[in-house]
Amino acid sequence: MRRLVILGSTGSIGTQALELLAAADDLELVALSADRRWEELIAQASRHGVRRVAIADEESAEQARASWDGEVLSGPEALAQLILGAEPDLVLNAIVGSAGLAATVITLTEGIDLALANKESLVVGGELVIELAAATGARLLPVDSEHSALYQLIGSEKGQSPGTIERLTLTASGGPFRGRSRAELESVTVEEALDHPTWKMGGKISIDSATLMNKGLEVIEAHQLFGTSYDDVEVVIHPQSVVHAMISLSDGSSLAHLGYPDMKVPIAYALHWPQRAKLELPQLNLEQLGSLEFEAVDNDAFPCLGLALAAGRAGGTAPCVLNAANEVAVAAFLDRRCSFLQIAEVIEATLAAAEIEQSYSFATLIEADRAARGAAAAHLTALA
Ligand code: NAD
Ligand code: MG
Repeated sequence: MRRLVILGSTGSIGTQALELLAAADDLELVALSADRRWEELIAQASRHGVRRVAIADEESAEQARASWDGEVLSGPEALAQLILGAEPDLVLNAIVGSAGLAATVITLTEGIDLALANKESLVVGGELVIELAAATGARLLPVDSEHSALYQLIGSEKGQSPGTIERLTLTASGGPFRGRSRAELESVTVEEALDHPTWKMGGKISIDSATLMNKGLEVIEAHQLFGTSYDDVEVVIHPQSVVHAMISLSDGSSLAHLGYPDMKVPIAYALHWPQRAKLELPQLNLEQLGSLEFEAVDNDAFPCLGLALAAGRAGGTAPCVLNAANEVAVAAFLDRRCSFLQIAEVIEATLAAAEIEQSYSFATLIEADRAARGAAAAHLTALA
């Protein structure tokens, strides 16, 4: 039995992971965490026989303590205490946003294998995260569907000489606004932006998918995970989300990873690696699919992908600033405090005014994240 901790268990990825556990007799769930939905968290803990949880929001933690006899950790050290105390073999980090970086760092520092859904960890602190994993020998298993696909594709070429893999391609569904011009995006609503055509996900990543920032974050994630230069990571719009990623090889051939869009597949892959799980999911039927479409990204209507690429190439704290400004702007859009197009404006203005440092220490990243959040909030106020 491998001991598993799930962080962010009340979210979209977290709940799907819990559903998978019902059929997984090789994994023992030992701890859970969430931000504030304590009743749901306690119900999950009770259902899975877990006696220890961490809750980020102090008030929610108090309420949980008053109504449950298990251990409820809170405060700045809570995640560290939860992870270290649980002695896990594997941690699934399904926290959303840069709030997930600390858990990634703690897990890898301890040499514990990490199933990483929290792509923001790799965007904000990719160098630090990859170096920690290399130093301690902890395995980093991507949960993001495109990166899970790439992990498998690149793994299949293990042993080939360097340079065999020439390019990586990430597909993007294009989100709910695919095909719209910039002018047509002026007055789109939160409800329209949340209505993703192929994936059902948490609020923040759904908006990121609508702006294409999600694909920008994913290009940085791929660069960090696989050490591929930005010149060699390509993005293509693919509305059906059936081809998840592709690698192009030196002999002119390409390998792609296909499947119906379902996050249970990459979550199960990361939880069970190196085994492959048996899931009751439909096999791909090419006749039924008929055709697959691919098209170029419209960078004028969707500037966030370009902003992310520029921040990735600038390096240092630039991706951290990009991510923080995006989190602040997306929260404001979800609160109806800014328009859809203003998300990119806030990010661009925050990046332009930020002092970028070429340092990857945890303290530098936390400070850059804090400062960028303040600057982005000020840009939002100026827009209002
Ligand atoms: P979500 O909003 O549905 O859930 C987020 C979870 O994180 C919740 O359990 C919440 O309680 C917890 N959380 C938030 N802030 C926290 C904090 N400060 N401390 C502790 N816990 C906190 O998000 P999601 O859609 O499940 O996405 C989670 C991560 O996985 C994101 O980084 C996202 O980019 C990535 N991801 C998600 C999908 C998907 O299909 N949902 C696909 C690929 C990657
Ligand atoms: Mg993805």
